[in-house]
Amino acid sequence: MKKLLLIKYGELTTKKGNRKTFIKLLVKNIQAILAGENYQIRYDRVRMYIEGESLSTITEKLTKVFGIHSIVECYQVNTNMEEISSSLVTLLQDVPFQTFKVETKRADKDFPIESMEVSRRLGGVILKNFSCKVDVHQPELTIKVEIRKEGTFLYVREIKGIGGYPVGIQGRGLLMLSGGIDSPVAGYLSLKRGVDLECLYFESPPHTSLEAKNKVVKLASIINAYSGNLKVLVVPFTKLQEEIYKNVPESYVITIMRRMMYRIAEKVVQKRRLKIILNGESIGQVASQTLDSMRVINSVTNIPVIRPVACMDKLEIIELSKQIGTYETSILPYEDCCTIFLPKHPVINPDMEKCIEYESRWNYEELVSECVENIEVISLRQEEKDELL
Ligand code: ATP
Ligand code: MG
Repeated sequence: MKKLLLIKYGELTTKKGNRKTFIKLLVKNIQAILAGENYQIRYDRVRMYIEGESLSTITEKLTKVFGIHSIVECYQVNTNMEEISSSLVTLLQDVPFQTFKVETKRADKDFPIESMEVSRRLGGVILKNFSCKVDVHQPELTIKVEIRKEGTFLYVREIKGIGGYPVGIQGRGLLMLSGGIDSPVAGYLSLKRGVDLECLYFESPPHTSLEAKNKVVKLASIINAYSGNLKVLVVPFTKLQEEIYKNVPESYVITIMRRMMYRIAEKVVQKRRLKIILNGESIGQVASQTLDSMRVINSVTNIPVIRPVACMDKLEIIELSKQIGTYETSILPYEDCCTIFLPKHPVINPDMEKCIEYESRWNYEELVSECVENIEVISLRQEEKDELL
């Protein structure tokens, strides 16, 4: 009896025209995540099989690959009723179930027993060996038997994958990544829809510390488990931020600072040939995220800005951050450039004309360009990941 994994593609099977591209990219992503494992992969338009040495480790890794709907543990046996029956009994030893049904598909029509009859006979074997009942409508366990030329395949246990689209199918976006709770979750959700990422982090040393930067790199490496290809771009933001504090009334400093962040993000998107900006803004969460603030801040760029957590409650975001493993790092108490010198009364419905007037008080464009030119690029490719953690 040989064990294999059957990979089900899930949502991407609905994308008929693009199916080939989707599957090719999925295979490439799987190969990247399984680097170093001993395995073989076979696939066609509807399914994919993986054989290998340590299938439990491989399964564990595959549960982090977007584009996989489920991973089915599957066993290949010789096609004769005795062997199929005895293998099934062995396999079901450690599967808890009380009700079941057997579904048989006879792809090899040379096999002399009809599907219904195979199901009936195997059902009988199971009833004899385990204390359980048949339930054809809502069984706890569905055992699938597929009789094919090369052998008979038994499918018993299905492990849920994380769904979504293969990472990279949509190209790359720029994620504004702070050390907070929201932006890593926004990053995870973007990857889930197939958008690969580069992460942009604004640091203001000495007002922000090296620990704050390391925290962001760590957050990026946690979500890198779903990409394998992330980079963190660190923007030296100190000079520009200090100019803002010198020239802008206190209630407007956050609004202007965020307009500057968007201007820098736009230039980075263009320079690095990315497609969109993404961030962790959530409607109404803070003064700079009211719809009025968003309009004024967003108006400095024409590049689409996607906010994956815009309509989620903070509690939902926290829950997801716990699930993906970023929460514990996000709550470490290091300061961010947005939290230093936080104004007491930040404006919640900023006036566009005033923003333009405040920004005309010094040559910000030069400083914006300087920020972009002096970005530090930290690569998180899979092989470098462990060191950074
Ligand atoms: P988070 O939103 O990630 O929990 P936060 O709440 O501290 O962090 P906000 O002030 O809500 O951040 O900022 C909204 C969004 O702006 C962040 O989600 C992030 O996308 C972006 N952002 C804020 N600060 C930075 C920074 N220093 N570097 C990069 N992006 C930032
Ligand atoms: Mg936030």
